Amino acid sequence: MHLKKKLGQHFLVDQNIINKLIKNISPCEKDSIIEIGPGDGALTKSIIPYVKNICLIEKDKGLINDLNFILKSYKNSKVINQDVLKFDFNILECPFRVIGNLPYNISTEIIFKMCKVDNVIDIHFMLQKEVVDRIVSKPNTKVYGRLSVMAQAYFNTKKLFDISENVFVPKPKVKSSFLRLLPRKSIFIDNKHEEIFYNIVKSSFEGRRKMIRQSLIKYLSDNDYNNFNINPKLRAENLTVNDYLLISKYVSQI
Ligand code: SAM
Repeated sequence: MHLKKKLGQHFLVDQNIINKLIKNISPCEKDSIIEIGPGDGALTKSIIPYVKNICLIEKDKGLINDLNFILKSYKNSKVINQDVLKFDFNILECPFRVIGNLPYNISTEIIFKMCKVDNVIDIHFMLQKEVVDRIVSKPNTKVYGRLSVMAQAYFNTKKLFDISENVFVPKPKVKSSFLRLLPRKSIFIDNKHEEIFYNIVKSSFEGRRKMIRQSLIKYLSDNDYNNFNINPKLRAENLTVNDYLLISKYVSQI
């Protein structure tokens, strides 16, 4: 098979790892699954016997016939030949679970996109170890950044285990990890709060080395900080996800 580097095609070839992924996903017969980037169906073939239905979103046209063949005896399952970044998940009405061994070049964009998707029960993604470490990291660490705050605002995040590069063909240059995301409920009071949260987190980390009083000067005066008990001399990496939620709630109400 001719693999396309620009589509991040590294296919799983180790059935032991696939079994371990499935065990951690713990599929059951009432599950509707969305799989992002099914490739040649390594994960799909192993999970489909356990679930109610599966919807595969694959960008590479050349893989679609084989994927349709894998699904041919399963009812209510389908292949969508589309770029996942353009796919509107919010047209899906029933709650669904999302899985995928992601194309690593767009894994961060996919995580940001998933923050805005309703009706998700849970997400299990394989992606670069370095990105998973950022997603689950805590404040005051080197890798804590915008991605950590955004992901942890929308999800309870858990790294399940690391995966060696030897289980893929071709072998990627980096290690991978398996990640679980569980949506958090009602974190924003309204859309305005959510929009301001997004902008405040972005501005804070754009000036990562600056004090937040400087990065957030267009939102807050020094006096405002007395209202939510956060020291304006702290830097973006010192603030918790809750601090960001609190600041943005305050800004959305002034
Ligand atoms: N799931 C397979 C496996 O584990 O062996 C393949 C994983 S491979 C890392 C990533 C897959 O995502 C490839 O099949 C690639 O064609 C597909 N892909 C890349 N960019 C995509 C996009 N924007 N939307 C949907 N699928 C994409």
